[in-house]
Amino acid sequence: MDDYPRTLMEFERRFATEAASRAYLVQLRWPEGVRCHRCHSPSVWVTTRGLYHCTFCDFQTSVLTGTIFQDTKAELRLWFRAMWYVTNQKSGVSALGLQRTLGLGSYRTAWTWLHKLRAAMVRPGRDRLAGTVEVDETYWGGPKPGKHGRGAAGKTLIVVAAQADGRRIGRIRLRRVPDTSAQSLARAVQAAVEPGSVVRTDGLPSYRQLSKRGYVHEVVRTEAALGDNLLPRVNRVVALLKRWLLGAHQGAIQPAYLDAYLDEFTFRFNRRTSRWRGKLFYRLVQQAVAVEPVPRGARPRQPAVA
Ligand SMILES: [Zn+2]
Repeated sequence: MDDYPRTLMEFERRFATEAASRAYLVQLRWPEGVRCHRCHSPSVWVTTRGLYHCTFCDFQTSVLTGTIFQDTKAELRLWFRAMWYVTNQKSGVSALGLQRTLGLGSYRTAWTWLHKLRAAMVRPGRDRLAGTVEVDETYWGGPKPGKHGRGAAGKTLIVVAAQADGRRIGRIRLRRVPDTSAQSLARAVQAAVEPGSVVRTDGLPSYRQLSKRGYVHEVVRTEAALGDNLLPRVNRVVALLKRWLLGAHQGAIQPAYLDAYLDEFTFRFNRRTSRWRGKLFYRLVQQAVAVEPVPRGARPRQPAVA
């Protein structure tokens, strides 16, 4: 049974102190006992400053070392409240909303925190979709004015993969791709879907080589007939994604940060049926201590698996 607060009252009781927040982080980071961050030795002793001193290499590990909280000057208690707030707002939060709710000193701080938290929304080494998966591409962003005859100019191409769960949508994966070439689409599918799975796409020729790459490829329509909805799950995800990008963020997303927003959408979508929002908080904390720190001002990276 995952250990997380169910309600705001439980959350407040549990994380009233910095020590309690820290203990929770230690438990999620090292469920089998503390290890040295540098040499992974389990042989450590606790210093008076609460660091873990390695008896092998003398490195001193903090529970924050190597996580998104590394180098933070803020209290962990405040970070926990940020994570609770972010995971409890169903459609996401703005930097301004976070700044006001937590009373953060500056908009810039709130913005940086949100980006660090988005970075934690990708689980390192997460598994791929399997079974039957619908795959389609969609464009984000408007065409740049004055460029006639190039419909894709200024737009970002996103490959969407949606797992079938009976008639419903299971988990999803999103990935930005440079173009609709066979190679780009195959890479996106390989990053998102286990070989051996059934992959349903439209008749775009670039998808034809999926069967050579170990997938059972099903073409659900031979032409893009308007009104047909033969990829209902992926089409639904595309509609929800676009609504979310437009609504929660007024559509004003810099292309450089789009990956981070795709990660956030995926994180929220794949946990949309969780009964307790606390479970999302738990996952976010767990993943926050499992990723490398994002240097201040650094652009979010293209995830290895999206
Ligand atoms: Zn060590």
